[in-house]
Order: sequence, then structure tokens, then C-alpha cells
Amino acid sequence: MSNTMPIENNQQGTLEPTSEKNATGQLKKISSAVQALRDAVILLNDDDGLEWWNQAAEDLLLLQVTDKGQSIFDFIRAPEFYQYYQSITIPNDGVHIESWRDAKRYLKCEITPFGDEKLLIVYDVTRLHNLEEMRRDFVGNVSHELRTPLTVMMGYLENFSHQPDMPPHWRRGFELMTQQTARMNRIVNDLLLLSRIEIEEAHELTYIDMTKLLTHVYDDAQAYNRAYGHTIHLQIDTYDGLQGSEMYLNSALSNLVINAIKYTPKGGNISISWTKTSEGCKFAVEDNGIGIAPQHIARLTERFYRIDKGRSRATGGTGLGLAIVKHVLYQHEANLKIDSVEGVGSTFSMVFPTAYVRSAPTS
Ligand code: ADP
Repeated sequence: MSNTMPIENNQQGTLEPTSEKNATGQLKKISSAVQALRDAVILLNDDDGLEWWNQAAEDLLLLQVTDKGQSIFDFIRAPEFYQYYQSITIPNDGVHIESWRDAKRYLKCEITPFGDEKLLIVYDVTRLHNLEEMRRDFVGNVSHELRTPLTVMMGYLENFSHQPDMPPHWRRGFELMTQQTARMNRIVNDLLLLSRIEIEEAHELTYIDMTKLLTHVYDDAQAYNRAYGHTIHLQIDTYDGLQGSEMYLNSALSNLVINAIKYTPKGGNISISWTKTSEGCKFAVEDNGIGIAPQHIARLTERFYRIDKGRSRATGGTGLGLAIVKHVLYQHEANLKIDSVEGVGSTFSMVFPTAYVRSAPTS
């Protein structure tokens, strides 16, 4: 027998006497449909207490009739869930947590507030999670396995290319092989970096001196800029640093600056800035380059998505730069914002929330 709490009559209580029977029938149907769902459905009152739930919720959360009114946090104890619960927006993507009953099961909790109450739906996403893990491992392993053969090929190509007696009609072929192996090597390195970032969910956070990091990114950009002749301006308005992952952030910020250089016609203007805002600290790169048409913006952080494949290849791009940026920012709870006008220029920016901002240590 089910311990599920019965649905009480509807709260509106304004049904006409003639339609009361119908309405009760409808309510029963809805109740049976929700009961039959494989996903757990739980109604929470304005005090975060359990109000009503279906059979799947009993199985997933081990609820009993006597639990009515108990706080949801007595059952779902994952800190990620608590954090998510405190900052629900409409709509939201929910939060993924490990099942507390079985470490090999994964759940997705999604809350929809209505009035003072909330509807919580818990999905079993174990299969999806495992598939995602397989995909990550596969990409990581393939990239790793390709590394050694590529290094050997690059070494020999380098040696052969410098042979003075190489027949002239071979030279062009060797040049192309060297270029393409170098490109393959960059792709493999970027794929490996992406898998590492994805796997290391709980990466080590250390204090990052942003003035130092940005100066380093700027110096590298100046070296890359020699072939482009842009004017690059660095503006640092705050000494505040970040609590973060320095190697990954360096890679993300460099990717954005190098993109600004690559996608701006020679002699352009590029501004890099680090400023304090009411929500945290903001990093921005602004260029007056080719810009991006609106229909591409939402897809730019997908792996291998390029607006113009030919141009990206010609500039040595791997098509993975912005995917890396997105993942690194996710680790720091920051989002990438892209403002762009085709033919005018683009601004890529991100705000690191106050929780990650650190004042410079006093020595
Ligand atoms: P890629 O290696 O091709 O540069 P990214 O992931 O870094 O790959 O960028 C994806 C695509 O976004 C690029 O191919 C380019 O079309 C577009 N893009 C990125 N940055 C800019 C920019 N500053 N201005 C215009 N287009 C850009």
C-alpha cells in the first residue's frame, strides 16, 4: 500500500455545484497521472516542508506518511541543492546531485516556485550521467593516445624540412605536412585541456594576483600581435585578485585576447580591462574587428563551432577556444557575455562573483 499523501481538494474552492463532480473526477485523474510518473514530484510549503508527494518520491527519497511537514533539507542534504534552492530563478536548469542512497546514481532536482509554495521534481539521470562520463573518457583517451605519434611525426618533419638537399618539388609538401601536424597537435592539446577541466570538478583554488596575470596575458598578446599591428590597451582599475585556478584562467583570458587579435583586421584597437563592479570584478576584451552576426552568438561556445571555418583555420584556430573559456568560467561561477555588432566589433566580458574576489594581501 502506498504511503503517499492524498491530494486534497483544490484550493481555489470556487467550483459551481454542478461542476463539482466533474472537478473531483479531474483531480483524481491528475492525481493518478502524477502518481504514475517515474519522476519524483514533491510539493513544498512556504516553510520548505513536505506537503504532498508521489510514489516515485517515496522510492527515491525514502519518504513516509509521518514525514509530512518535515523540511526538504532533512532529506536532500547535498550542499549544491541548498545553494540552488537559495537562489532559484524562473526558469532554471535545476541542479545535479549524487544520490545519497546509492553513490552510483545521479539525480537532477528542478524547482518551480508558485505563490509561496514550490514544486520539486527529481529525475533519475544516472544513464545520462554515465553516457556523458563515457564521452569524456573517450575523448580524453583518444587525445592522449594521439599525442605520442604526433610528437614523433612533428620531430621527423622538422628534421626533414631542414635537409638542404631536399628536392624543391617536395618542399611545399613538407611545409604543408608540418603545418597540419602542428594544427593537429594544437587540437589534441586543447581537447586534453578541456577533458582535464571537465574532470576536475573540485579543482584547487588559490589566490591569483590579477594585475600580474593580466600583465602576463598582455605581454603574450603583444608578441602575437606583431603580425597584426593592433593597438592594445590594458586598463587595470582595481588591485583586487581572485580565488581561482590560475593555469585555467590564464588559458581562458588568453583565448579571448588572442581571438580579439585574430578577428580584427590589421591596425585595429583592442582594450583589455579589469574593473570592480557591484557584483564582483569584471574582465572585458573589446575589439573593433569583424564582429559577429546575432544568430551565431548563442552557439559560439560549442566545440568546433566557427562562423567562418576557412578564416579560423587560416589563423591557426582549433575551434575549441571559447568552449575552454566557458568551462573555466563555470568553475568560477562566472558567465561569458558576448556583445557584438557585425562589421563594428565585439566585447567579450565576464563578472567574477564577490565570493571569488580577494583583496591583495598586505605585505
Ligand atoms: P577558433 O579557434 O576558431 O578561434 P573559438 O572557440 O576561440 O575558436 O571561437 C569560435 C568562433 O567564434 C571563431 O571561429 C570565430 O568565428 C568567432 N569569434 C571568436 N572571437 C571573436 C571575435 N573577437 N570577433 C569575431 N568573431 C569571433
